[in-house]
Amino acid sequence: MSALEITVDYDAITHNVEVLRGMAEGAAVMAVVKADAYGHGLVPAAAAARAGVRPGSALPSRARRSSLRAAGDSGRIFTWLFGTEVPARALIAADVDMSVSSPEVLGAIIAAARDLTLPARVHLAIDTGLGREGVTLPALPGLVDLALAAQAEGLVRIVGAWTHLAWADQPGHETIDVQADNFRSALMLLGERGVELEVRHIANSACTLTRPEPALRPGAPRHRDVRAPSHSRSRRARLWPAPRDGGALAGGAREGRARRPGVSYAHQYVTPYPTTLGLISAGYADGVYRAAGNRAEVEIRGRRYTIAGRVCMDQFVVDLGPATEVREGDVATLIGPDGPTATHWAEAADTINYEVVCRFGGLRPKESA
Ligand SMILES: *Cc1c(COP(=O)(O)O)cnc(C)c1O
Repeated sequence: MSALEITVDYDAITHNVEVLRGMAEGAAVMAVVKADAYGHGLVPAAAAARAGVRPGSALPSRARRSSLRAAGDSGRIFTWLFGTEVPARALIAADVDMSVSSPEVLGAIIAAARDLTLPARVHLAIDTGLGREGVTLPALPGLVDLALAAQAEGLVRIVGAWTHLAWADQPGHETIDVQADNFRSALMLLGERGVELEVRHIANSACTLTRPEPALRPGAPRHRDVRAPSHSRSRRARLWPAPRDGGALAGGAREGRARRPGVSYAHQYVTPYPTTLGLISAGYADGVYRAAGNRAEVEIRGRRYTIAGRVCMDQFVVDLGPATEVREGDVATLIGPDGPTATHWAEAADTINYEVVCRFGGLRPKESA
């Protein structure tokens, strides 16, 4: 018997979702249940959230891959956070909406849809300035063309577009308006190309609570979604180029100021030169120390790379340098014979190596997450 017992008040989750739904003023509410519902237990937390978004219809959800469906959740489910290793066949078969963050990911989804002769429901991920995932505005037309061609073949249905904010927890931060403008530009481009979206999503909890204006409520009220990352435990790198000037934010930057691309929440890392960034699907939910942002290193293909910016709940970014040999799908080693040691992590996170090894136990595949 475990000495530690945790009791979760799931009614509080239902209540909180109801409050957010009230503040969202008619927009759809999507409950995020990543990282085992932030440690609260995926199935019961998702059920509690469903009860809040659509009173009277509690639908249990399970985030990993298509297993949400296996737990009986028949509502809309949206999943993101994967590279080309996206388990697209299982997700299409389970009618789970997938995020498309690059032409490569779209290609993998199209191939699976062709195999199954079933259309995939996709949401285009747009990097409006977070510097973590999605296509930038200049890259969007190319992705839309690919997606529209696949849609004409009946292989995908473009149902959504989404983005995520870098500074949502600072209500007055100028980047929120810049990102909202960039998102509007992206939506306009989609509209011009004849894309008919069911949902458009931008606001996280902090934004919903602090910025009530409709500009940040672009979701159509028809769907009540659960955003559940398809947790890729392979921790493979996803890559994208970062130019030196005119990063994602520059598209809508005031006074024509070109900014260098900031990386991840609050842009705690700014790329010092034109470079390639890699996204690693591990974060503090997996035991990666948040305090190690901009400090700890990982090893990829025999080279060490320092974490660029903040460690997020289930992902972080590395700056791979201007001429990297790292390829999409390469494995990043956090602790290993040729990689960083537990002592190295301890120094980066101001702790001792005993705590590091205990905590990284979270990286072992979980039965329940
Ligand atoms: C974590 C996350 C959210 C939810 O953020 P909250 O601050 O918990 O509301 C929304 N969208 C994305 C892409 C996320 O990673």
